Amino acid sequence: MTASPALGTTLQPATQAFLQHAPKQLLIGGEWMAAASGATFDTINPATGRPLVSVALAGDADVDQAVQAARRALEAGPWPSLSGAERGNLLWKTAELIEQHADELAELETLDNGKPLRAARHGDLPMAVRHFRYYAGWAGKLEGATIPVAHPDQFVYTLREPMGVVGLIIPWNFPLLMAAWKLAPALACGNTTVLKPAEETPLTALRLGELLAEVGFPPGVVNIVTGPGVPTGAALAAHMGVDKIAFTGSTEVGRKVMAAAAAGNLKRVSLELGGKSPNVVFADADLDKAIKGATWAVFSTSGQECVAGSRLFVEEAVYQPVLDGLAAQAQRIRVGPGFAPKAHIGPIVSDKQLQTIMGYIESGRSGGAQIVAGGERLGGELASGYFLQPTVFAHQDDSLRLVQEEIFGPVVAVTSFKDWDELIARANRTRYGLAAGAWTKDVSKAHRFARAVKAGTVWINAYGLFDAAAPFGGYKESGFGREMGREALDLYTQTKTVWVSL
Ligand code: NAP
Ligand code: MG
Repeated sequence: MTASPALGTTLQPATQAFLQHAPKQLLIGGEWMAAASGATFDTINPATGRPLVSVALAGDADVDQAVQAARRALEAGPWPSLSGAERGNLLWKTAELIEQHADELAELETLDNGKPLRAARHGDLPMAVRHFRYYAGWAGKLEGATIPVAHPDQFVYTLREPMGVVGLIIPWNFPLLMAAWKLAPALACGNTTVLKPAEETPLTALRLGELLAEVGFPPGVVNIVTGPGVPTGAALAAHMGVDKIAFTGSTEVGRKVMAAAAAGNLKRVSLELGGKSPNVVFADADLDKAIKGATWAVFSTSGQECVAGSRLFVEEAVYQPVLDGLAAQAQRIRVGPGFAPKAHIGPIVSDKQLQTIMGYIESGRSGGAQIVAGGERLGGELASGYFLQPTVFAHQDDSLRLVQEEIFGPVVAVTSFKDWDELIARANRTRYGLAAGAWTKDVSKAHRFARAVKAGTVWINAYGLFDAAAPFGGYKESGFGREMGREALDLYTQTKTVWVSL
C-alpha cells in the first residue's frame, strides 16, 4: 500500500496504477480506445469534490462502433458456438477474478461513488461475485420444452435463444453490482453486450472490462461506453442495431428509453426504476428491531437506494417512541469520507444530487412537515464534499412532494396511522411500487400485508435484503421485468418454436 496524501488515504498499488493510466478509454471490440471526437469528462470524488481521473466521452459514432462490435461477436467468432457449459466456466472465472481483485475494486468504488470502503468491500463486492456464480450455474441449463400439440404427425419443441445485442444502462448507486446484475444473466444466455455505466461512477465497470479480457471472453462480447445520459445513453437506447435494453435508473429516463425503443426498432426493454417504498411499524412489533430496521431501511448508502424505506408508517399507539427512537438513531449515524474507518455512511454522489435533496428538505419545511433530526449539510473539514445529515421528517399530509416523490437521499417521512384500511390505502397511494416492509410479530398480519401492498418485493421484520436467486423488480411506475433469479433468464432469451413433420 502506498500513501496518497491527496486522497487522505492509502491505496492499493493496483488502484494507483489504474488511476494513473489516464484518460480512461472505451472498450470496443476488445480494444481500448479514445472517443472518436477525443472528448473526455472528469469523474469526481464526492468526498472531496475534486476530479479523480478523466474518462473518454462516447458519442454516437463510438456507440455505433460498440454496437457493431457486439453484432460481429454475436454472429461470428467463438462466442456463438460456445456451449452453455463453456459460457458458465467463463462466468465462474469472472467471479474468481473479481474476488482476487476485490480490495482494489472496492477502493475504486469508494473513490468514485463515496460509499464506505467497508460497504463496498463486504456488501457490493461479494454480491457481484455471487451474481456471476449464480448465473454461471444457469448458463448450461437453458432448456426448451417439448410441446404436445393436436396434430399427431407433428413434433414441436422450443429453443431458448439469446436476444442478441443487449444494451445495459446502469445508475451510480451500486456501480459494479449493477453491472454484475445485468452482465451475468445477459452473458449466461449467450447475448453480446454494450454496457453504459453512469457518468458519475464509470471506474469499476472499466476495471471489470480489463478483468473480463483476462478471463478470456472473446473480443466484442462485452463493450463499455462511458459518458453522460445524453449523448451516450440516448445513442444506445435509440440504436437500431440493439435488440434489447436493460435499464436501471429513474422513472423519468426509463420513459425516454421506452419511447426511443417504440420510435425505432421496437427493441425489447426491461426497466428497474424508482421507488417511494412504504415501511410499516405495527404496534405489536419488536420496537428495538423495528427502529433499527427502519433506520437502515432508509439511511444505508445515504438513502441512495431505489428500495429506500422513505415513507415510514407507524401505528398510533407506538408513534411517539418510534419517532423518538428513529431520530436518536439518525443522530448517531456517523457521516464521513468512505475511507474513514468509522463512517457509517458516505457523501451524496454528486453536488447536483445534493442540491436536489436539499430542495426536497426545503419543500418539506415550507410545506409544514416537522424536522425531528438532521436537515443540514455538513461543514468544517467535510465542506468540500457532499455530506448531508440523516434527516427525519414527521408529517400528516401525504400530498407533500416530500412524501410523493423519490428523493434518493437520506430523508425519511414519518407518519402515524390508526387502522388497517387507512394504512393500506395510504401505503399504496403512490405511483411507485418497488418495495415495502412491515414490522410485526403477528404472522397472519404480516402475510396479509404482503398480499395487500402493491410492490415487487416485501420484507417482513427485515429490510433491503437481496440475493442473486430472488427475483427483483417493480410494480406500477417502478418498472417491469424481473431481474435476478430464474426470472432474469426470461429477460435475456427469446423462445423459438420448431415444428417438425414426422
Ligand atoms: P438516471 O438519471 O435515470 O440514470 C440512469 C442511467 O441512465 C445513467 O447511466 C444515465 O446516464 C442514463 N441516462 C440518462 N439519460 C438518458 C437518456 N436520455 N437515454 C439513455 N440513458 C440515459 O438515474 P440515476 O440518477 O443515475 O439513478 C438514480 C435513479 O435510479 C433513482 O430514480 C433510483 O430509484 C433508480 N434506481 C433504480 C433501481 C432499481 O433497481 N429499480 C436501482 C438503482 C437505482 P448518466 O448518469 O451518465 O447521465
Ligand atoms: Mg465519481
